[in-house]
Amino acid sequence: MIFSRLNRVRVGDRLFDLILDAGGGTVSLVVPSGGGQGETEMPFGTADAGGLLYLPTLADRHTHLDKHLLGEPWKPRRPFVTLAGQLAFEKETLAAHGASVAERARRMLDRMLDKGTTRIRTHVDVDPQIGLSHLEDVLKVREEYRGRMEIEIVAFPQQGLLRSGSLPVMKEAMRAGADLVGGVDPAGLDRQLERSLEAMFELSAEFDAGVDLHLHDPGHLGAYTIERFAELTGEAGKGGRAAVSHAYGLGQISEAEEGELADRLREAGVEIVTSVPIDRPMPRADRLLASGVRVGVGTDNVNDAWSPFGDGDMLARASRLAEKLGWIVDDDLRKALGLVATAPLEPVEGAPATFMLVDALNPMHALASVPAREAVFANGRLVGGRWAKREG
Ligand SMILES: [Zn+2]
Repeated sequence: MIFSRLNRVRVGDRLFDLILDAGGGTVSLVVPSGGGQGETEMPFGTADAGGLLYLPTLADRHTHLDKHLLGEPWKPRRPFVTLAGQLAFEKETLAAHGASVAERARRMLDRMLDKGTTRIRTHVDVDPQIGLSHLEDVLKVREEYRGRMEIEIVAFPQQGLLRSGSLPVMKEAMRAGADLVGGVDPAGLDRQLERSLEAMFELSAEFDAGVDLHLHDPGHLGAYTIERFAELTGEAGKGGRAAVSHAYGLGQISEAEEGELADRLREAGVEIVTSVPIDRPMPRADRLLASGVRVGVGTDNVNDAWSPFGDGDMLARASRLAEKLGWIVDDDLRKALGLVATAPLEPVEGAPATFMLVDALNPMHALASVPAREAVFANGRLVGGRWAKREG
């Protein structure tokens, strides 16, 4: 469904009409409601937003399109004992359930669009057993969703880059179209910290790619790994294209130590991506932001072998971040929303018509109350929310 005009959209504390250039998928005009401006024949439909609030769509900086069990039979989880045991359990779980990776990816993407997410970074498993099978499906599905969802792909050696002998298949994955080189616990899983990190950066140099490392290793082991990651990022000239996901260790060292490391992360251009865990310490995101470190937020686990929890809703995740950090004043609530927004909080003429409408008083209220998404637009097309269901 394509609209040319949306009347009575709340922006700040006033109502505006948004006139969309449906052909180009941009917002061509934002005019005060009731002013009679732009009242010409519209090529597509006009809708009354009835005072619903304008919000930008959302970005999920860390997800796994190939791991969840959405739409599949319930899977009883087992207690987490060792990482190696959990990795085996995950392989068995994904193989035993019926959906193809392509079908899994579509289910997750449809859910994300419905919740207002239009930009994601997904890690996709590669290893010598599954080869590129997950990646090939995700690459295919990325094409299907082009124009609605921007998808960045990290080739992810979940079983351990060196431990599982995944270097050759990682090279194939980069050749096949993955955008970034992934990695996981160079010490805790690969047990060769230096060699594992170096291998990641060698791959990233060979394919002129960014890097995004899963790092669960705790305390000073994790902090030391991050320190080496920052040094290698600087040496490789990968500033602005390097991220450490999870980085739990940052939340387990002293604040003074984290502050010092934060300066190095800023200088090297390393982003920290958190899924805002509530069951363990996490990086002190406010401290990192104050130091000028880029902080990304993702949903990570959604009903997968690792966790039965999660719903893929980035507005809820940003709300959890604000609540966990004790952010209650307006500036902080807006900051939390800004961390997950794909665009400014107010419409910009000439910008892509990619936004959503919710029932809230203002952006702060939306962040705090996590309302349903009434309508989600990507490049001028209705792609999610209640209106999309109504349109059928
Ligand atoms: Zn992950």
